[in-house]
Amino acid sequence: MASQEIEALSAALARLPGLGPRSARRAVLWLVKRRETALVQLLKTLEEVQARLIECDVCGNVDTTNPCGVCSDPRRDARSLCVVEDVADLWALDRSNLFTGRYHVLGGRLSALEGIRPEDLSIGKLLERVEAGGIDEVVLAMNATLEGQTTAHYIAERLEGLPVRITQLAHGLPVGGELDYLDEGTLAQALRARRPVG
Ligand SMILES: [Zn+2]
Repeated sequence: MASQEIEALSAALARLPGLGPRSARRAVLWLVKRRETALVQLLKTLEEVQARLIECDVCGNVDTTNPCGVCSDPRRDARSLCVVEDVADLWALDRSNLFTGRYHVLGGRLSALEGIRPEDLSIGKLLERVEAGGIDEVVLAMNATLEGQTTAHYIAERLEGLPVRITQLAHGLPVGGELDYLDEGTLAQALRARRPVG
């Protein structure tokens, strides 16, 4: 029988994406054996993250400043806006160093199965940003999944009539491919070969 504390921590960790109950329990035992070293370090890092990281009010990125480093960087091209599902996708694209514009994080993708509707994502805020003007191109960089593409299609429709060019990542992206898992070469290729939507 595991103690109540171990059960509680295992349950908390098992809620993390990619961790099931088994690996969560294994991680907890690993930490308990290293309570003076790894566990202390982890607690300290978690505290720092909790204290310092905030969500950018403009784009939804996570950074230590608000607006975030990307939004407040004057060298970036404010006329080009790249829409992504999650912060991890923003980081993946930014690592490729090919996109020099700004971003908009939706906070997920539309999903009938999971009951995620347009109003659950920051689509309204995206429309506001585009309607405010000063943006020439919106790059839809959704994942090459059915739900990602449904989301891209929906956003393209909502942007119709606004004076912006709407483009989409070229899908040299593997079908079912999630941006965060792609190597930088593939991602760079998809971004370079982006094409108009419609
Ligand atoms: Zn930002």
